[in-house]
Amino acid sequence: MPEKRDYYEVLGVSRDASIDEIKKAYRDLALKYHPDRNPGNKEAEEKFKEITEAYEVLSDPEKRKIYDTYGHAGFGPTGFDWTQDFSRVRMDFSDIFGDIFSDFFSDIFGSDFSTKTTQKRKARGSDLEYRIYITLNEAAIGTEKYVNISRFDECSVCNGTGSKGKTGKVTCPNCKGRGQVIRTSGFITISQTCPKCKGEGEVLSDPCQNCRGTGRVRNMHKILVKIPAGIENGMSLRLKKEGDIGPNKGERGDLYVTVFIEKHPLFERDGENIYIEVPITITQAVLGDEIEIPTLTGKAKIKIPPGTQSGELLRLRNMGFPKLNGYGKGDMFVKVKVLIPKRLSRQQQSLYQQLKEIENKDDYPEIKNFKANL
Ligand SMILES: [Zn+2]
Ligand SMILES: [Zn+2]
Repeated sequence: MPEKRDYYEVLGVSRDASIDEIKKAYRDLALKYHPDRNPGNKEAEEKFKEITEAYEVLSDPEKRKIYDTYGHAGFGPTGFDWTQDFSRVRMDFSDIFGDIFSDFFSDIFGSDFSTKTTQKRKARGSDLEYRIYITLNEAAIGTEKYVNISRFDECSVCNGTGSKGKTGKVTCPNCKGRGQVIRTSGFITISQTCPKCKGEGEVLSDPCQNCRGTGRVRNMHKILVKIPAGIENGMSLRLKKEGDIGPNKGERGDLYVTVFIEKHPLFERDGENIYIEVPITITQAVLGDEIEIPTLTGKAKIKIPPGTQSGELLRLRNMGFPKLNGYGKGDMFVKVKVLIPKRLSRQQQSLYQQLKEIENKDDYPEIKNFKANL
């Protein structure tokens, strides 16, 4: 047996190389000496083993420490046993090369790592999500809307089998039903998922033209969505089994309809309650009045009591949103905003002047209190 070469020398890196430098050096060398690229080349094969061994030691901080201290002797009289612990190498491999090379390792080091799937996949179909927009009034009383969705259905020509004739599926001629194909190059055999049957082991002898053998086709559907009264902005409604049908007659996914509520020019919502600001004049506030206001379901007349203050909240019971989970409704709050006139006619000016002259400030407790604390 020839003298073992120094691992750092094998990878062509310095003794203080970082893990990234080691990885990069190994990657470059492994790509060069990979048996797949050098079929039948014994020298490349040996070289590949040598660099893999060096990498296995130097990429592991503990093994590297042993090697740095004791050299090859650190791994016993026979040196480092490179047939051990290959699950880790494999992991590093897929880390470095992606999944392309990982099958290659499963083949050299046993089938423990292989992931053969010969069972045909009968998966649940995808969930679909759609958005709809409704007005605040619609949210208050509940509504029904149609959504036009595009979803996968069972192909009506082949009834979802994907097959045109009655023969259905036959054993895949490419992999003879194993779902995997073996490719030999050099001393190594590579096992891959069969590209023809995608690992299923069988293929359609006569695929349906309508669905290209998939058993599913996309169709447009008009689906009625019932929106409950009291729904909140951004809530999703789940329509069970209205999503895509799954491959191989798999169960349907669900349809989620997310409801967005348009902003209303006057109403402000807070849970079940609704707020509205109502502007009134000074005389309406002073003398009281009856005014018309919008509600969630139409219009209503409300009484402004004499002496209503600006900013005062009038509460209208059960005029808010219906409660989603249970009985009853929220309230509507009317916030009164008293407007102070900015322009007065000559006559108004004169009347306000007269009013000022007869006004008794002591009638206002707030002013009285303010003055007392001057
Ligand atoms: Zn079909
Ligand atoms: Zn196949």
